Amino acid sequence: MPLTLSLPPTLERDLYTEEHELFRESLNDFVHAEIVPHNEQWEKDHMVSRESWLKLGEAGFLGMQVPEAYGGLGITDFRYNMLFTEVLGHTGCAGPAVGYPLHSDIVLPYILHYATEEVKQHWLPKMVSGQAIGAIAMTEPGAGSDLQGMRTSAIDHGDFFLVNGSKTFITNGYLSDIVVVAVKTDPSQGAKGISLLLMDSAMKGFTKGKPFHKVGLHAQDTCELFFDNVEVPKENLVGEVGRGFGYLMTELAQERLVVAQSAISLAEAYFAATVEYVKERSAFGKKVADFQNTKYKLAELATDIAMSRAFMDHCVKLHNEGKCDGATASMAKYRLTEIQCKVADECVQLHGGYGYIWDYLVARGYADARVQRIYAGTNEIMKELISRKVLS
Ligand SMILES: Cc1cc2nc3c(=O)[nH]c(=O)nc-3n(C[C@H](O)[C@H](O)[C@H](O)COP(=O)(O)OP(=O)(O)OC[C@H]3O[C@@H](n4cnc5c(N)ncnc54)[C@H](O)[C@@H]3O)c2cc1C
Repeated sequence: MPLTLSLPPTLERDLYTEEHELFRESLNDFVHAEIVPHNEQWEKDHMVSRESWLKLGEAGFLGMQVPEAYGGLGITDFRYNMLFTEVLGHTGCAGPAVGYPLHSDIVLPYILHYATEEVKQHWLPKMVSGQAIGAIAMTEPGAGSDLQGMRTSAIDHGDFFLVNGSKTFITNGYLSDIVVVAVKTDPSQGAKGISLLLMDSAMKGFTKGKPFHKVGLHAQDTCELFFDNVEVPKENLVGEVGRGFGYLMTELAQERLVVAQSAISLAEAYFAATVEYVKERSAFGKKVADFQNTKYKLAELATDIAMSRAFMDHCVKLHNEGKCDGATASMAKYRLTEIQCKVADECVQLHGGYGYIWDYLVARGYADARVQRIYAGTNEIMKELISRKVLS
């Protein structure tokens, strides 16, 4: 059943045009036919189906920004990408709301912006059609926030790099076909020693761990990746040697906006489900919605959501004009993921015991929300980045 969203009534949005709203309608129909009914099974499988990727590709919802020459739609208006995440977030299906946008809006840009023409021609059409699933691998068992401490090495052997090492916590990792891997091409250097390589998961010596059993995001295949003497051809270098850290810093702003968008959209879904619930549930001869505490809690959450949504829409507008800097994207990621966790927690409380039962959207939301404050740069790292701008 599509969820009727009770967005805070005072908020009038002017981010989207009529065309965007038509896109929302068709996407909404698609996700309620092809995603929502399968989410429960996917949570048990610890991953979405490959078929769902192909269906999304066939419907034109993957890599929409890819130029027509590479099989895409050439839609350069990023609001469509953000609407994609918003609509998925509003279903409350957090695994899909994270994994598909990561492919289109986080992994694909590295190929689009920095890969060679040959690599683009090979991979982009497959990523648009859903035949090739993308992942990005930065984190290692011994290096997460401190990326410069990574140890996966790529030694120059003339025609190829010889890669050894491992990565962990990789979203879409188990299903991945094409992975942007951060490697050390010069271990004697910090940031300047980091490069990005595109690795085909079919390459000899590339293996994957089983999907982790996580606290939440159960429909997401997060896993380890291992590289044992993998020979990566030189043409798979993303951009130039030693510039990987710079590329990451440039592209991570968009990653943080995508996480912020999923955070606020999922929070809106928890809120809507809770408004419906408290109007139905009775205690002490009246509806739970009639208790003063319930009204005040909903008022608080509605205010937090309205303010977050306004800031999010502002960031999307800025980003669409190429004007959203890293600190602003970090503010959105930090604050909106905190709000998501707060909304999830309060919504569980307003559901009482049912809020702790997995069948209820808010219970899953409570578990799903927590990691949003950790990945894509922890919220402590976001505060570091914001404070640098403040003090500059
Ligand atoms: C479900 C999931 C999906 C993920 N997906 C991906 C993915 O697709 N690709 C990928 O590369 N990674 C991914 N990650 C990894 C994620 O980005 C890292 O876990 C995260 O960056 C934190 O790194 P860490 O786990 O090593 O923690 P650490 O860096 O060890 O941090 C531990 C604690 O120390 C704090 N800390 C660290 N440095 C500082 C500092 N300078 N100042 C203040 N506090 C600090 C942190 O904020 C944290 O609270 C994923 C993680 C999870 C759980």
